[in-house]
Amino acid sequence: MQTNENFLSIQHLIEKELNLPSPPAIAVKILNAVQKDDGALAELGTIISVDPVLTAKMLRAANSPLFSRNGEITDINRAISILGTNTIKNIALSFVIATELSNNEDSSINIDHYWRRSITAAVAAELLTKTMQLEYDDIFVTALLQDIGMLVISMTKGDAYRDMLKEAQVSHLSLLELEKNQYGFDHQQVGYALLMNWQLPNSITEPILYHHLSKNTPDTCYKSAEVLYLADQLSAIYNEPETAEKARNIQQTLIEKFDINKTLALELIDDVATTSTKMITTFELDPGEIRPYSLLLQEANAELGKLNLSNEQIILEMKEAKEKAERVTHELRDANTRLKELVYRDGLTGLYNHRYFQESIGQEIARASRYHSSVSLIMFDIDFFKKVNDTHGHPAGDLVLMNIARAVTSAVRPCDIIARYGGEEFAVILPETSASGVKVFAARLRRCVEGIATLVDGQLIYVTVSAGATTFSKDGVQVTKDVLIDTADRALYISKQNGRNQVTVLEPKLAINEYD
Ligand code: GH3
Ligand code: MG
Ligand code: MG
Repeated sequence: MQTNENFLSIQHLIEKELNLPSPPAIAVKILNAVQKDDGALAELGTIISVDPVLTAKMLRAANSPLFSRNGEITDINRAISILGTNTIKNIALSFVIATELSNNEDSSINIDHYWRRSITAAVAAELLTKTMQLEYDDIFVTALLQDIGMLVISMTKGDAYRDMLKEAQVSHLSLLELEKNQYGFDHQQVGYALLMNWQLPNSITEPILYHHLSKNTPDTCYKSAEVLYLADQLSAIYNEPETAEKARNIQQTLIEKFDINKTLALELIDDVATTSTKMITTFELDPGEIRPYSLLLQEANAELGKLNLSNEQIILEMKEAKEKAERVTHELRDANTRLKELVYRDGLTGLYNHRYFQESIGQEIARASRYHSSVSLIMFDIDFFKKVNDTHGHPAGDLVLMNIARAVTSAVRPCDIIARYGGEEFAVILPETSASGVKVFAARLRRCVEGIATLVDGQLIYVTVSAGATTFSKDGVQVTKDVLIDTADRALYISKQNGRNQVTVLEPKLAINEYD
């Protein structure tokens, strides 16, 4: 470990050479609040609630599948009690620091690109630690800030530093060496000095000081520094050129280092793309188009197939053919999207159909299993619906179905999947939702339907639903999608038996025959 004395002289140099910005006031308050043992919870909530913009962003991030496990989080205090002070501290610090350092006009580097890359790295680090079941509570904010030193150097050194970044791309010297030669310190040390000044905890500052995994990286933070290093490489796939080569390399590294198979490594690489897109939007940046690596691969292969030409022709027609292929790919993608909508949607309600439900539930179980989280399933069926048809006519029944579909759609989170399972039976898949979460949500859903009125020929029609819910959890019994569906169905049946207009929650069991 770099001794303190050693670092003191470097810190002196850094402070002489660079303008280190002071910490945002709210960051100091947040850090002070979490250092206190008692009262931290309430105080943290109060500090964040004062800033409505920050609060809104925090809630969006807290509800993203990356953090939330318990369904909908609607206020900061609930977010704190569900996710814990530490996670909330880290999300808050991420926003506060990113906002503070985003408006810097002195910087010579492209700030948007810098933050897109950092956020992707933060998401990758969080997914890596979850997949490997490592316990680094601060990893998201640490990965987000790992290259903060570069931003600080660029703020003082301007174009000269931008030229150095360019040189690092073509030179045999690494960026760290170039920085050391020119300034006497590197961006790891600058980031460390800045965040030490800001009094961020060691668990954040130390891995940043060693995130390039140099030989002197101490054992105490080697593993977390390694996560930062890999997360940065995962981020580079989507933010730098030579995607394919980078993806192949990191896939190999993941397989060797963490003893995971090729498919899981590829899934992780793809998940970085999909999850980052959402998180970048939460930071109010344009995510651009971050498409999962395996999709890019498929498209590249498809284009290659189309270019089945002789060598001479390729040279002559390369440009034209490429443009044509791109156009065709574009049109195909559009047509595919439209076709998918048709294949996967129910015509009457616009909800997903049975087929889509069957495909998604399997994928969500696999995902929950990979990230050691949970996924819940609710099935609900309209009570005495035949009577509605008999009394008011079939078209009135259709209107009721459409109204329920619309109301339930606006009651769920964007990541939840609602499907029309059959005639007047529906299913809701709730990723990252625990057994206690689904119980609360199913009860809300039942009440929501109870309040919907459909006006037909001057008459108001009200209906109720009976619901059954269950949860797949990585820590619980490992069940297939069929068992999960069967469990929810049985729970629904019990609700019907017990008098309808109610919710029953059952735990999935391994053997289908083991009925209660
Ligand atoms: P329970 O409380 O036991 O579920 O009683 P129920 O009357 O709802 O159940 P049952 O299965 O006996 O009847 C379901 C009815 O739903 C019969 C069918 O005509 C009606 N239905 C199914 N699909 C549609 C549809 O698309 N539109 C309309 N209007 N009715 C439908
Ligand atoms: Mg019914
Ligand atoms: Mg029915």
